[in-house]
Amino acid sequence: MSSAATSAICITARVPAKVNLELMVGPLRADGFHHLATVFQGVGLYDDVSVEQADDWGVTVFSPQADQVPSDDTNLAMRAARLLASEAGIDIPVHITIDKDIPVAGGMAGGSADAAAALVACDALWGLGYSKAALEDLGAELGSDVPFALTGGTAMGSGRGDRLAPVLGRGHYHWVFALSDVGLSTPEVYAECDRLRSERRVPEPAPSASMMTALRSGDAAALGRALSNDLQPAALSLQPRLEEVLRTGMEYGALGGIVSGSGPTVAFLVSDTEHGLDLAVALTASGVAPVVKRAVGPVAGAHVLIGPAGRRSS
Ligand code: ATP
Repeated sequence: MSSAATSAICITARVPAKVNLELMVGPLRADGFHHLATVFQGVGLYDDVSVEQADDWGVTVFSPQADQVPSDDTNLAMRAARLLASEAGIDIPVHITIDKDIPVAGGMAGGSADAAAALVACDALWGLGYSKAALEDLGAELGSDVPFALTGGTAMGSGRGDRLAPVLGRGHYHWVFALSDVGLSTPEVYAECDRLRSERRVPEPAPSASMMTALRSGDAAALGRALSNDLQPAALSLQPRLEEVLRTGMEYGALGGIVSGSGPTVAFLVSDTEHGLDLAVALTASGVAPVVKRAVGPVAGAHVLIGPAGRRSS
């Protein structure tokens, strides 16, 4: 790990990506934000964030997209570690190593995930014992998706998406993710959404009954039909190629397909592992998606994976 590291103690936290099963975006508010009503699900694409005491603050990122991730103080994991240090009165730098499997700028909240994992890992490294609620409050200062990355599972988000309530649901769902080689900027997608809706009155967002019913019953086909994302028209407007990705996935039998968050990743719900493999092959072979990944959800939020002395704690 880092040459600047001075301590043998290394803590690794694992954190999942998210997909928004439903994302309803309210009107643009005077403060520049939108009220959201969303249902998040944690899915098993993971980043591993390791922290160890060092002479200086620093970040190393391992990912095929590492060139798109900042390695300075603007890295969200670094911001999280520094925020927790200042809150707790800790004056000892850490080096952070991020092993990324979550696509960068893909609409799967990778940066927020790393912030959540850094909070959990630093809390363990420094022996702070902060409650989950306290870490969520700190996380909300860093980004509206950070509290969900700490929680995982399936949850409803309101406000900016940072006020969470658990969703009672059953079942595991099989997902296929078609990644794009060009990212989309979340602020640009929101701006495009506002532009596309400028001529009409936008209602306050509210969760749909069909989504809650599908999740309660664990019916994957019903969940596939209930998937919806108010940002999808904006993502398609900015990256029209995504239409073809969606069409191809549905032609090959996906139960539902949706742009994930602000995109450009497209998420397909499938019935089981075999169906997922078939769809992954079809998406790759048809040339519409350069990279395809499969995952199951819901999965737990950020948690310590390897504690002091390399002991596996979960
Ligand atoms: P969201 O869905 O939360 O809007 P996203 O999944 O589309 O985000 P991220 O992977 O979080 O996108 O990256 C958005 C930008 O954040 C990147 O372009 C990158 O410059 C910056 N960033 C800062 N820290 C990180 C990090 N630890 N991992 C990834 N990106 C980071």
